[in-house]
Amino acid sequence: MAESLSSDVRVLAGRLENAARVTVVAGAGLSAASGVPTFRGPGGLWKDFRPEELATPEAFARDPRLVWEWYDWRRQSIAGCRPNRAHEVLAAWSRRFATFALVTQNVDGLEERAGTINVLRFHGSIWELSCWDGCRAAPARWRDETAPFPALPPRCPRCGGFARPGVVWFGEPIDPGVLRASLEALDCDVCLVVGTSAVVYPAAGLALEAARRGAFTAEINPEPTEVANDLDLAIAGRAEVVLDAVERVLSES
Ligand code: NAD
Ligand code: ZN
Repeated sequence: MAESLSSDVRVLAGRLENAARVTVVAGAGLSAASGVPTFRGPGGLWKDFRPEELATPEAFARDPRLVWEWYDWRRQSIAGCRPNRAHEVLAAWSRRFATFALVTQNVDGLEERAGTINVLRFHGSIWELSCWDGCRAAPARWRDETAPFPALPPRCPRCGGFARPGVVWFGEPIDPGVLRASLEALDCDVCLVVGTSAVVYPAAGLALEAARRGAFTAEINPEPTEVANDLDLAIAGRAEVVLDAVERVLSES
């Protein structure tokens, strides 16, 4: 590991050693080493559609089958993925620190599969479904790990209408309870932004708000993002490499 990278790792580990409250804000880069395609990198396109053309209520209203074919494909590909070293380190930290939150924009569920406690699903879960017609099926969301579905679109068990993916689409609000818990989690000692391009608001503003409230803020991303200059530390490296290195320093001390 290059000298500057290893000194950055020591700086972050030093901050974590003295931290009681740690909040991590994560994006698609956290799951990159698991083989889950990012939206903006290579492999982010499906049949020449951009996610912005598929992950919207308008797209679903127009062509629910097309949107479900995309989610069905993503669910199958994610089902074959395993948590990577970055997920494992965050799962260990969720037990190590007195207060820990992982605010994730990912919908793949690899955080829980790695054993992480207190995952705040900013954009929902690809493994949950809800009723497109909002028929107040109880519960409002249900878990269904079928992949592939035998017929598309899958149906709401209550009213028989179309089910939709339990994810937050472009133009839709973040769940108020998740948003409240995420904002509370910004009262922390260390806020770490891992593998997010920081272009999807309001997720991007979270680290800056944590900084405003006095947290030490750091980013881990092989390509420093727009907010990197506003944070205390930007480590240019892959999550699975850098988090592993930080964890090794922490466990030696
Ligand atoms: P993004 O695709 O915009 O950005 C990914 C970022 O990860 C980039 O900045 C890239 O440089 C970085 N990156 C790539 N490999 C990395 C690695 N090994 N370690 C650390 N960083 C790495 O993704 P986003 O910012 O999360 O925003 C896209 C939206 O799309 C999200 O809100 C999410 O809901 C959705 N999405 C989810 C998944 C998933 O569930 N895994 C995958 C793709 C997109
Ligand atoms: Zn219904």
